[in-house]
Amino acid sequence: MSEDPFSPDALEAARVLFARPVRFLLGAAEVTQLPDPDLPEVAFAGRSNVGKSSLINAVVGQKALARASNEPGRTREVNLFLLDERIRLVDLPGYGFAKAPKKATAKFQNLGRAYLRGRPNLRRVYLLIDARHGLKAPDAEALDALDQAAVSYQIVLTKADKLRSAAAVEAVHAATAKAVAKRSAAFPRVAVTSSETGAGIAELRAEIAAAALV
Ligand code: GDP
Repeated sequence: MSEDPFSPDALEAARVLFARPVRFLLGAAEVTQLPDPDLPEVAFAGRSNVGKSSLINAVVGQKALARASNEPGRTREVNLFLLDERIRLVDLPGYGFAKAPKKATAKFQNLGRAYLRGRPNLRRVYLLIDARHGLKAPDAEALDALDQAAVSYQIVLTKADKLRSAAAVEAVHAATAKAVAKRSAAFPRVAVTSSETGAGIAELRAEIAAAALV
């Protein structure tokens, strides 16, 4: 991979990688159910409804690999997908979902935390933030957990198409970048994406490839 993550070659290599076969591997309700840490993993985290399923689907170019959070079943677990038999994409439980009973919420968060602390093959966490809202209190807790786990993470703003203007996108981008600049484990670039329009998806693929295949 070249030094510039967004060089034409890097973007093309990432496009080819993410066009390779991808499949649902398993949903783990406990860390003991996770596969051996023998392949690089990148994980996706964020508040419920942030657009996590949509982003994972956009990145792999499939409509229904990751499921919407309000569907029963998989999304309350840690869900793993296998890309090209060599990278695992990990969908972490959404946090801050007000309707979930407190005990259940704590359990999901514990699983997420246990995953973050215990994975030597975890190359990067993508923390998704809704571009309309920016960083909020529940996100700060997630950032603290990531800093404590000393896991490399990158902020991804989602649903950028819902903002009224490029200036509004730039404002939330700048504010978010400033907030994470003080954080020790944060990757400096804040990604801006829309699963709806595809904006920023090619660049995100390139960054995931660079993080996973070092
Ligand atoms: P999750 O709970 O984080 O997995 O969120 P989902 O991917 O299920 O998305 C939550 C809602 O936001 C759904 O109604 C999506 O259609 C919508 N959504 C997700 N991404 C985008 C986006 O980039 N743009 C727009 N306009 N809507 C989006």
